[in-house]
Amino acid sequence: SAGVVTAVARALEHADAVRRLEVRANADTPEDARRARRFGAQGIGLCRTEHMFLGERRKLVEEMILARDDTDRERALAALLPLQRQDFTEILEAMDGLPVTIRLLDPPLHEFLPDRTELAVRVAAAEHPEPHDIELLDAVNRMHEENPMLGLRGVRLGLVVPGLVAMQVRAVAEAVVARTRAGGSPHAEIMVPLVGAVEELRIERAEVERALAEVSEESGVPVRCPVGTMIELPRAALTAGRIAEEAEFFSFGTNDLTQTTWGFSRDDVEAEFFSAYLDKGIFPASPFETLDRHGVGRLVRIAVDEGRAARPGLTIGVCGEHGGDPDSVHFFHAAGLDYVSCSPFRVPVARLEAGRAALSGAEGSDSR
Ligand code: PEP
Ligand code: MG
Repeated sequence: SAGVVTAVARALEHADAVRRLEVRANADTPEDARRARRFGAQGIGLCRTEHMFLGERRKLVEEMILARDDTDRERALAALLPLQRQDFTEILEAMDGLPVTIRLLDPPLHEFLPDRTELAVRVAAAEHPEPHDIELLDAVNRMHEENPMLGLRGVRLGLVVPGLVAMQVRAVAEAVVARTRAGGSPHAEIMVPLVGAVEELRIERAEVERALAEVSEESGVPVRCPVGTMIELPRAALTAGRIAEEAEFFSFGTNDLTQTTWGFSRDDVEAEFFSAYLDKGIFPASPFETLDRHGVGRLVRIAVDEGRAARPGLTIGVCGEHGGDPDSVHFFHAAGLDYVSCSPFRVPVARLEAGRAALSGAEGSDSR
């Protein structure tokens, strides 16, 4: 009823007035970005670009990764560039004036390669197999990984596929130029996923800066995008002081950080042992839903402390599923994060919880 709506609006207004945590949203499409804004998001904390490569574009990614030579790869990249530029332009328009954190491509490889078994069966069954199929099978066999979630993902992909980072960053920069010329106020940030060592970030960041400088030079519009990283591997958390030397911001990817800290797959939460663990009280709630304060949370604390010691004022957020979980929001407030980012529909709850966390005292219910 109208009374309830007014009460909720008042509670949100009150929460917004007292909370210290900013609330951003995870969004990969202009529609999601607009929805997030209506729910009060103060920016996009995570734009997962791999979601832009599904459907018809999947083929282009496959061509880019499996390219036989530079010409093939460059053709695929050239076809992807205008599509990406369009994606980013629309999202920056929907979030005009607010930060939009665009994450470089981070798909597990098997999501983009043709099915290996199917291909092998087709080649074996054909009397005269297509030369293209034989070549493709060979390439897929070479790239095969037993554990794709621990394989060629995130920054690793950017480091081994020539031109990929340059293409994505150019698309972002050209979108910034287009929005600037249209009188907008674009605030794009570039985020590098799955970093475990500062050396990875150093190499990738140099490529990012090169692409930004090229577009600035060509267009005459200075494009300035902060470059940061996800902290989603234990090694990243443990070496955060070094990583902060190359990162203008951190964003915790608590989905991967939980997976790699516990050593069980985020894709296997339906497996039998997982519910047995819940029944036995080995964890009180799924660590993929409510942040495990003692393990994953400890890594978060270490990374915040070391990151800020190395770079005072470092902006730090979280964009894993925990960003929208009420109990976890209290933890992130207490740990001194700057923002949480969650799915658009959870933005109001995160705003309320951030307000409650601020009111319940600096440490809240969290204990170190
Ligand atoms: C994460 O790992 O928490 C994260 C936000 O990235 P993704 O879920 O896309 O791996
Ligand atoms: Mg991740």
